[in-house]
Amino acid sequence: MTAPTADAATEVHDPAVLAWASDLLDRAGGPRAMQQAVIAAVERNARWRGEECLNLLAPEAPMSPTVRALLSAEVGQRAAEGHIGPANRWFAGTRHIDEIEALCVELLKRVFGARYADHRLVASMIGNLAVYAAMTEPGDAIMSVTQPFGGHSSNRGDGPAGVRGLYIHDVPMDPVELEVDLDAFSDSARRIRPKLVALGASMTLFPFPVTAMADIVSEWGGRIFFDGAHQLGLIGGGQFQDPLREGAAVLTGSAGKTFSGPQSGVIVWDDPALTVPLTDAIFPTLAATHQVNRVAALAAAAAEFFAFGQDYMAQIVANAQALAGALHERGVPMLAAHKGFTRTHQAIADVTAFGGGEAVANRLAEANIITNKNLIPTDPAAAWDRPSGLRIGTTEVTRWGMKEGEMARITDLIVDVLKECRPVEAVQRDAGDLRRSFPTLHYCFAPEA
Ligand SMILES: *Cc1c(COP(=O)(O)O)cnc(C)c1O
Repeated sequence: MTAPTADAATEVHDPAVLAWASDLLDRAGGPRAMQQAVIAAVERNARWRGEECLNLLAPEAPMSPTVRALLSAEVGQRAAEGHIGPANRWFAGTRHIDEIEALCVELLKRVFGARYADHRLVASMIGNLAVYAAMTEPGDAIMSVTQPFGGHSSNRGDGPAGVRGLYIHDVPMDPVELEVDLDAFSDSARRIRPKLVALGASMTLFPFPVTAMADIVSEWGGRIFFDGAHQLGLIGGGQFQDPLREGAAVLTGSAGKTFSGPQSGVIVWDDPALTVPLTDAIFPTLAATHQVNRVAALAAAAAEFFAFGQDYMAQIVANAQALAGALHERGVPMLAAHKGFTRTHQAIADVTAFGGGEAVANRLAEANIITNKNLIPTDPAAAWDRPSGLRIGTTEVTRWGMKEGEMARITDLIVDVLKECRPVEAVQRDAGDLRRSFPTLHYCFAPEA
């Protein structure tokens, strides 16, 4: 059972980590021990990331116990390709799967106030590809946000938009306000006449002027596509702009980011003319067996939004503002200080003075504080792999019940690491203590007995 060795020059994964795994399997002495090695790694992660770390990674959110439990439901091993309803399925036996999926669709429609929703996106990336497949032709021009301003690869040349063969132009952004430069946009958009303008971003602090931009592109029949991967929960909880009401034709989002459901995608829209192209792009083009356990978990997460979404999402934003304000006061330069730092779950620091994004994120992780390096607008394009920024998100700590007071304590711990005030081990201990003093997930129903 030794593995054939890959050509080291073409291997994209870290060869040292693969060699560690291969060696472990060689020494395991049998399949059962191999399986135990997998389980042990999962348990090490659960202990460290689940119990000892302050997870401030913006794309993460803890699922409620009910939602998480549904991921191992019996239905996760059932196959149900196609649209909902017995006439639309290739496979028999889908009676209750139709019920689960219909509940999910109807819940998503209610949370987002949309006429149509789809539940079959195993990733939000795939939702974006469905949008490009349905709403563009190869060779069309689109506009999207560049990475230093928070844009995501899925709307750029190295993602689904590029795969579709689109000409991708930049949405002009104001580097100080961190919002769309509407004057520059109206000039360049009228010149380019994009079929689609993709808004939304991974580094996201402020709303986009969707209405004004939709008005401009409507002059030539262009549409706005809002990629709300990060903001999906904030939108569902009424704490951010409401893209569909403001004129976006379609909204996609990640179910596992602020929305706090299972990692996967959501897509909603209102225009009946888009229904056949979008759903055709999803099935049979991009989804087949679409993980019905995940659909059940997504539906359960959507139901939580009616009870808890507003309070949960409002506290996430309040915590991000508190954290950003406290860090700025302690000498960590935060973006958009002149305008209240953020209207989302994120705060962005310029950590150039502390060694740059990568070094700082690694030092914080040593201290059990998990963040990520991030490009910021002042980063030159050539330095894409050495970003100056640090992105901090408050979704998870908020769901553990932390409020503004704890944001001050987290600030102290971050500053201790950045300014090397105390040994890393001491900060690590305090981070673990703070995490463990909030043992219960909030904004969810008690699990069914
Ligand atoms: C995270 C992200 C995606 C991809 O979402 P997945 O659910 O991870 O596939 C797409 N667009 C933006 C703006 C993102 O931040």
